Amino acid sequence: MTRMPTERYSRQMILPEIGAEGQARLLAARVLVVGAGGLGCPALLYLAGAGVGTIGIIDHDRVDVSNLHRQILFDADDTGKSKALAARDRLHALNPAITVHAHDAELTDENAPGLFASYDIIIDGTDNFPAKFLINDVAVKLGKPVVYGAIQGFDGQVSVFDAAHGPCYRCLYPESPRGQVQNCAEAGVIGALAGISGTMQAMEAIKLIAAHHSFTPLRGALWMIDAKTMETRALSIRKNPDCPVCSRPAAEIVPRYASPVCALATVRDIE
Ligand SMILES: [Zn+2]
Repeated sequence: MTRMPTERYSRQMILPEIGAEGQARLLAARVLVVGAGGLGCPALLYLAGAGVGTIGIIDHDRVDVSNLHRQILFDADDTGKSKALAARDRLHALNPAITVHAHDAELTDENAPGLFASYDIIIDGTDNFPAKFLINDVAVKLGKPVVYGAIQGFDGQVSVFDAAHGPCYRCLYPESPRGQVQNCAEAGVIGALAGISGTMQAMEAIKLIAAHHSFTPLRGALWMIDAKTMETRALSIRKNPDCPVCSRPAAEIVPRYASPVCALATVRDIE
């Protein structure tokens, strides 16, 4: 029987859309966050705070001082430590009642299927197309929803790719968009925008898990923000009947990498 520490979650359980039933679903849920970076850090904090019962973190990187302006799980003393392990320790400190699995490894086409199989939802906190394609292809093959996020400069995007109920990432980008060759580390990003986008990814995951009938997750919709003006829009994305991934039977999907380019295409690339 699930232990329910109601006081910790009382401020969200008081919401009729969450209640005891939604909280029980959160405690039973298993969410994998790929990348403990600018998007993953805020997403992880809010998922742990909300009481998502099992959280996985995969990241092979070490904490660098240049990460600290946006990767809010870490402080200066964490510099040089494994991001996955430092993130796990921080989340345990925030909420000792949940289980956190740290994977100090790079996501590859070899380890992704086994890892994804143990989780209900995948959160994409990565910053490059090869990782995003790999996450998408494995998730579609295994029937797992992906809460996608991408940021660059002042532009942010969030969506839910759930091929069983709508388009997948490759319905939007069959291959890497042309002309996007900028190095991600050089492209630059504002920490607060990473916070906005990663927090929205946590919100979308909580909506998918708690599943109240009034919730409308961003399936088939690409939410976009221009933080310079705070203009937002939600672009409708249709399932591509010729999608190289989700139009195929699961057994025929072979997850693969593409050329490494930055992860956020412009509206012009999409429209
Ligand atoms: Zn597709």
